[in-house]
Amino acid sequence: MERLDEQVAIVTGASRGIGRAVATELAASGATIVVNYFQSQAEAESLVQEITSDGGTAIAVRAGVGHPDDVQLMVEKTIDEYGRIDILVNNAGVNRDRSLRKMSAEEWNEVINTDLNSAFYCTSAVIPHMVERTYGRIINMSSIIGQMGNMGQSNYAAAKAGLIAFTKSAAQELARFNITVNAMCPGFVATDMVNALSDDVKETLLARIPLGRFGRPEEVATFVRYLVTEGAWITGQQLNPNGGMYM
Ligand code: NDP
Repeated sequence: MERLDEQVAIVTGASRGIGRAVATELAASGATIVVNYFQSQAEAESLVQEITSDGGTAIAVRAGVGHPDDVQLMVEKTIDEYGRIDILVNNAGVNRDRSLRKMSAEEWNEVINTDLNSAFYCTSAVIPHMVERTYGRIINMSSIIGQMGNMGQSNYAAAKAGLIAFTKSAAQELARFNITVNAMCPGFVATDMVNALSDDVKETLLARIPLGRFGRPEEVATFVRYLVTEGAWITGQQLNPNGGMYM
């Protein structure tokens, strides 16, 4: 497995859940990590502590990924500190589940902005720095819901499907600069997002997963690392760690 010793990665929403596992995995391969967070400052700082005490390099940077000005400042801070950006993981996301008949425009817009517009803001902010070095790895955290749809998640499904289409277009535009762009489409993974579901809903979901359990954040992180270290000839693709729930 290739090491990432000189490389710098921005992982959005790295304070908790899948993003935290991705940041840990990339740091273990030697990458310097920008731990982006929004609300969970203590968790972000504890992750920086963990990475540095394991001999790695990381900083925590607060930025709301749905705010282009925040994103620009995060990218500038990264360049000021480390001088380059090699890897971007557009992971931050929220859900505001509600049936379509009851969903408010605020609930729709918040999810579209945080889960989809954010990928545009972050990607366009890092592109000049990747083009400059003719190298980049961009991974967009979509979801099985972007492939299947789901009751009560029309906002989230639209955002995550949008991310898949965004991935394919960006992959075509950026390939000439040796920048790959891929989407991860995890099934249900045991993080705060899934732990918040009722026991009934969890049981119904588990019955639909052939491998019979929720995924672990580390199982998604492994594939993100794979796309970075082994993915030189992979672009515009969807990787589906989902326990067989969608084939
Ligand atoms: P969590 O709810 O556990 O964590 C969400 C992360 O996103 C937190 O670090 C949070 O940071 C960050 N975040 C939320 N809003 C913003 C914002 N506006 N700006 C910056 N960061 C923000 O979610 P998961 O780890 O479960 O999910 C991570 C990604 O994976 C999401 O995009 C999700 O849609 C996707 N996914 C999750 C699946 C699952 O089953 N768990 C399945 C498929 C995809 P903070 O707390 O600091 O605000």
